[in-house]
Amino acid sequence: MKITGIKSIRLRASIPPQGRFVSRSGQRSHRSTLLVQVVTDEGITGIGSCSGNGAILEVMIERVLKPLLIGKSPCEIKELWETSYFHSVAKELGSRGLGVVALSGVDVALWDILGKAKGEPLFKLLGGAARDKVSVYATALYPEAPAEVAKKALAFAEKGFRAAKIKVGFDLARDIEIVRAVRAELGSDFTLMTDANQGYTLGVALKAAEAFAACGAAFLEEPLFVEDIKGHAALRAQGKVPIALGENLHTRFAFENFIARGAVDILQPDVARAGGISEVVEIAGLAARHGLSVSFHTWGDAVALAASLHLAAALKNSGIMELDCTENPLRSELLTEPLEAQDGFMSPPEGAGLGIELDPKALERFAFSGAEELSPWQKALSA
Ligand code: MG
Repeated sequence: MKITGIKSIRLRASIPPQGRFVSRSGQRSHRSTLLVQVVTDEGITGIGSCSGNGAILEVMIERVLKPLLIGKSPCEIKELWETSYFHSVAKELGSRGLGVVALSGVDVALWDILGKAKGEPLFKLLGGAARDKVSVYATALYPEAPAEVAKKALAFAEKGFRAAKIKVGFDLARDIEIVRAVRAELGSDFTLMTDANQGYTLGVALKAAEAFAACGAAFLEEPLFVEDIKGHAALRAQGKVPIALGENLHTRFAFENFIARGAVDILQPDVARAGGISEVVEIAGLAARHGLSVSFHTWGDAVALAASLHLAAALKNSGIMELDCTENPLRSELLTEPLEAQDGFMSPPEGAGLGIELDPKALERFAFSGAEELSPWQKALSA
């Protein structure tokens, strides 16, 4: 079998006004993604997903990755990843960043092809199911009046979730009020996570960690700027609450730096950003060798969610996984059979490869070829 084509599909969906939300990453009024289709001469097509600026990723795939991969066997995934990364992406586009994101989408599509060629679901190719079902936590608690956030958290508990994440990283007194209100509403059995999206300085984060630990927070995610390894290490040394991060790290090498300096407890790679399935397996292996667990970051679209579910089902040191529960048509409407949680658990699709089928009507509905909207930070700087 040979690769005969690579196509990019840019998608964008508006979030209805009642579903819009604000975190330290900015206000969201739409969701966008870039899907990758790798086509072969045997009629098998693999699908992957990249989470980043679609217009730029499209060019990287077309101009940098496609010329390397056309004519190659799609099943030699390790060889293709290493050639792409070490001999091209890292040299031409940089060892971190969007080049790695582009490679992530292609890698996921190659694993989908391998699974389809062998007639096996991806989790079996990754060593088989380490667990029957994957425990997921809900990400959907954004800053609002504390009583309102507590009410929403209760609604998730009533849907069967046993864990949810609260977005913090704003005014500390207000953040603490919200976390306390949610804990009071849900009692001590419910698992609460906190995520600052890099919003704190070290001084504030030290106080936040203490306050959230007193509320029984399971972890504090991305408390500081992503490159501040020293700050994360200081916070972890304080020992109040486990430190989780990884959604903005690319490749095992970035994770290795945090581990080596004692700056992280829970690794959160995103399969559509960190280097694809191949690299997430490497990152989970690295975590295992250091006695750490992984908790997959999932955002973006249903293809990335499916890939994450296969990984979370198969990898032994994978803990509870994130489930984006905001209104996101690219998660809920993209597949002919949507992936949904049942009582706080999910299972990977049983079909070959990723086991998913894209809904052609959704692809038409969300097709997008315009310029990406300015990010909240770009807007602020250009104002
Ligand atoms: Mg996060």
